[in-house]
Amino acid sequence: MIDLRSDTLTKPTPEMLAAMAAAEVGDEQYREDPTVNELQRRLAELLGHEAALFVPTATMANQIALRAQTKPGSTLLAEERTHVMVYEAGGPAIHSGLVMRSIAGEAGRLTPDQIEQEPDLGPGGIVVLENTHRSSGGRVWPVEEFRAAVDAAHERRAKVHLDGARLFNASVAAGLSASEWSRHADSVTICFSKGLCCPLGAVVASDAETIERAWEGKFLLGGAMRQAGVIAAAALYAIDNLVDRLAEDHDRARRIDPDAETNFVAFEDAPGLQRRLQERGLLVGGLRPGWLRAVTYRGITDGDADAAAEILAGERVAA
Ligand SMILES: *Cc1c(COP(=O)(O)O)cnc(C)c1O
Repeated sequence: MIDLRSDTLTKPTPEMLAAMAAAEVGDEQYREDPTVNELQRRLAELLGHEAALFVPTATMANQIALRAQTKPGSTLLAEERTHVMVYEAGGPAIHSGLVMRSIAGEAGRLTPDQIEQEPDLGPGGIVVLENTHRSSGGRVWPVEEFRAAVDAAHERRAKVHLDGARLFNASVAAGLSASEWSRHADSVTICFSKGLCCPLGAVVASDAETIERAWEGKFLLGGAMRQAGVIAAAALYAIDNLVDRLAEDHDRARRIDPDAETNFVAFEDAPGLQRRLQERGLLVGGLRPGWLRAVTYRGITDGDADAAAEILAGERVAA
């Protein structure tokens, strides 16, 4: 069975497990875990921000970032299929009291015009931009377009949070440093448990004051840990060794569909299609209503990608 449901299916590599076993640890809540501290320092630097905070999941990173920068009753604006809108169980409304306003975008992107037309965003409001954008099929924001959207949000006096769960995929695909996007946003989330192969872990980066408020959110949500260096070591290993190889995932996605921008292949759903693909040995996942995805990740070979392409092409002919 070729399992292309999600890049969350990656497992820690033997070298990653060795790095985890060798990690120096301390009590993270005392801010005394040296490996966590080192990861936070490295990520802040990589993302062009003053500080960063290590948390168990990117969902929590997003929620903490929103809470640290907004006021209850203000507006969160995002493209309608962003992760914070669809997959975080209404968290922005519950944890931060935000009014969640979504608008349809092209390729998951909001234009400056769309943002400028919003009546009342700030202060206290926030615009969430996602790169790569999951539900549009792992699409990459062109940097200039991203900056223009950020500027428009700032003109509306709103903060900007970048959900960069897969920002390193965008970085590798565009051949640009991740900070080319993240330094323009007020805060950014990175997820280690997707293509970066970690068992769990995420960071949120921002200015030092926001990260201090983020610590409160981390305690509030139960995300403060203890000897978390064991998992921070996995993330450090991934940052040093598994970022460049994301290009291989992108190449394999393009063996399936030349239009793939990163590690997602998007294709239209049809009645019974997922079951028929499974019968032919291919598991795929949901992308958005009416669309499915095939996602490449470490462990998927060129041969797997070619076989998946053949199975998909066969189904299209049969349909
Ligand atoms: C997966 C994902 C998240 C959440 O990551 P978890 O670590 O599973 O909580 C957030 N945003 C985007 C765009 C994602 O794809």
